[in-house]
Amino acid sequence: MRIADAYRSGKPVFSFEFFPPKDEKGMRRLHDTIAALRPLRPDFVSVTYGAGGTTRELTIELVTEIKRDTGIEAMAHLTCVGSTATEIARVLDRLAADDVENVIALRGDPPKGQTAFSAMEGGFAHGSELAAFIRSRWPFCVAGAAYPEGHIESRDVDDDIRYAKVKQDAGVEVLITQLFFDPHDYFTFVTKARAAGVSVPIVPGVMPVTSASQLAPTGMFARSGARIPDTLRRRVEAARDEQAVQAVGLAWALGQCRTLLETGAPGIHFYTLNRSHAAYRVYRGLRTGLPAMVGAREA
Ligand SMILES: Cc1cc2nc3c(=O)[nH]c(=O)nc-3n(C[C@H](O)[C@H](O)[C@H](O)COP(=O)(O)OP(=O)(O)OC[C@H]3O[C@@H](n4cnc5c(N)ncnc54)[C@H](O)[C@@H]3O)c2cc1C
Repeated sequence: MRIADAYRSGKPVFSFEFFPPKDEKGMRRLHDTIAALRPLRPDFVSVTYGAGGTTRELTIELVTEIKRDTGIEAMAHLTCVGSTATEIARVLDRLAADDVENVIALRGDPPKGQTAFSAMEGGFAHGSELAAFIRSRWPFCVAGAAYPEGHIESRDVDDDIRYAKVKQDAGVEVLITQLFFDPHDYFTFVTKARAAGVSVPIVPGVMPVTSASQLAPTGMFARSGARIPDTLRRRVEAARDEQAVQAVGLAWALGQCRTLLETGAPGIHFYTLNRSHAAYRVYRGLRTGLPAMVGAREA
């Protein structure tokens, strides 16, 4: 299934994102996570693309294996980092041969130790260039990234809106956003993007807070460029232990997802960090209103 077709169904589309684990223990946890999330019948899952050869190989293997063995639709992430067009073409040929139908085309972040991204000779400088390359030769449904609060290298969000349109013109059929916490940022972005001619689904990416360290100045949210609303920060700071932090994170994510879906978002893409617990409870909470609400009351 091409994921663009799922978004045309009119029903909210739910997806989970994983990354290739570094070791056996991580691989076991990922398999447990997939087993736990499978009964929720997500519309698709995706697997990120790293910088090294081994992790990239794992992305291809995992996407193929998930689709074949679980029947869940799977999307491969692909970046421009450190690859020529010829090398990327080899990966795309393999994915196509393995019946993978969906790819998200990304530029990627500068490799460790480098402050700015520089394109390989014979490679690509932007996600949109990679998307155009893919659409020129393969039948994949191609997704791309969007940034409701602006990409960390951009001057302002208007840049990202312009480049969202460039991605669409390059053949991107679905945009998935960077994680964010305030639905207002998403709706402002979508309104401006529609005015700029972006008509493809813009899917909010959501990650429940699961640890206070994520909010630190050097934590993962700061690195992603996501602004932490004052109310959320205060609630996390007031939480007495990790369990209470998780309850705050779940309650926030559930409220965020409800607002997003009630106001017209086409679905939710959950960043899972390869753990089932948070995404499971938010997703179930959306469907039943029960388990995650228990978490909310605990907060
Ligand atoms: C849903 C999602 C999934 C991701 N998965 C991965 C992953 O698997 N692996 C990974 O390494 N990273 C991943 N990332 C992170 C992503 O690679 C980084 O955010 C990266 O810095 C930008 O990628 P991009 O495709 O958006 O780049 P681009 O669209 O190329 O944008 C990068 C910068 O260049 C600017 N820009 C864009 N187009 C142009 C243009 N034509 N001319 C001039 N400037 C331009 C943009 O405003 C932005 O500041 C993901 C991000 C998201 C949102």
